[in-house]
Amino acid sequence: MPETSIKLEGFTESVIRMMTRVANEYGAINLSQGFPDFDPPPAILDALAKAAYEGPHQYEVTWGSQLFREKLAAKQTRLMGIEIDPDKNIVVTCGSTEAMMTAMLTVCNPGDKVVVFSPFYENYGADAILSGADPVFVPLVPPTFTFDPAVLEAAIAGGACGDHAGALTDKAGAKALILCNPSNPSGKVFTKEELETIAALAIKYDLFVITDEVYEHIVYKPYKHIYIASLPGMAERTISCSSLSKTYSITGWRLGYVIASEAVISGAKKVHDFLTVGAPAPLQKAAVTGLEFGDDYYESLLDEYTRKKNLFLGGLDEAGLTYYEPQGAYYVLVDIENINPFETDGEYCLWLAKNVGVAAVPGSSFFKEDVNRYIRFHFAKKDETLRAAIERLSVLKNEKYSSTSFK
Ligand code: GLN
Repeated sequence: MPETSIKLEGFTESVIRMMTRVANEYGAINLSQGFPDFDPPPAILDALAKAAYEGPHQYEVTWGSQLFREKLAAKQTRLMGIEIDPDKNIVVTCGSTEAMMTAMLTVCNPGDKVVVFSPFYENYGADAILSGADPVFVPLVPPTFTFDPAVLEAAIAGGACGDHAGALTDKAGAKALILCNPSNPSGKVFTKEELETIAALAIKYDLFVITDEVYEHIVYKPYKHIYIASLPGMAERTISCSSLSKTYSITGWRLGYVIASEAVISGAKKVHDFLTVGAPAPLQKAAVTGLEFGDDYYESLLDEYTRKKNLFLGGLDEAGLTYYEPQGAYYVLVDIENINPFETDGEYCLWLAKNVGVAAVPGSSFFKEDVNRYIRFHFAKKDETLRAAIERLSVLKNEKYSSTSFK
């Protein structure tokens, strides 16, 4: 038999999605893979019902329906403060997962270096490898998850490129940097100063910044989301990826997008065309209703998530757990250093799902460094689901679950 691709050796199956299967196996409350268990807004569901009978049911324009792109351009121009032409600056994709992959395949040559902050959403490592690039990791140091600008500059500037088989690059230094803001899994929201540091380095070393901004509407007060594309000189070198999944609670619809310069988008249209042909036509039609929502929708979305965050973090307090309060997104990293009797966070998560009935993601799957002390919960769940999880987690304050007294 011929061998499968050597690229597969560079990454494992998704630990996040594996934990969903573990949760299902043990009947645990699934606070691992981040998706809501509540319904999307009724107006979007009504639009979906209408689309079922009115269509379209055949392929849409490859880079997204005209109406979807026009409404998206209007919304994002208002938010991002940059000019977005629906015909020249947008590709609609199958979720931000495809958006990121498309962005990487559009700009990377085999052997290019791509800078990734660690901890990171696990797709980025695989995206880099599948597009032939070499990821270079820069730590976001807990508990504040800040980076050292000198370490970042060294990662961008230094090191040999194209040192693996089949490398085609002649670019000195990194080709791109991936910026997840608000950040998964840490909940960090990058400050204006941090973004300016990143922007200055991107300009100095001539690299693309590929963003993942799927939590752009979930930023807790007083923190603010700043689009790096809006900083001076950044619109032309930022490839902004996002999706409708988290904003409208439709993770299964697989609707995402890339916003970038005309030159990048003309390449991204080709990549997307051959990857997936297009995002689902009737779902694009229905989602236009969401893109037309006014500011009040985004305010109430944030109010809801603020309430859920406070409810869940209150439960963690009651269970005596230590965590880092997120500034954005809907995840929380809990420090298990003093309560984990096992060798690894993975074993603790399996134990927790099986014996306590709550599923989390082992933090080590997000870190490049050898970090084993965190587990990630998400709180995008109905209040009743969160209350049930809190009740189950409350057993952790019992002496019998202290790290020395159980296995
Ligand atoms: N972004 C979500 C998470 O981090 C879901 C990821 C996925 O499975 N696509 O859990």
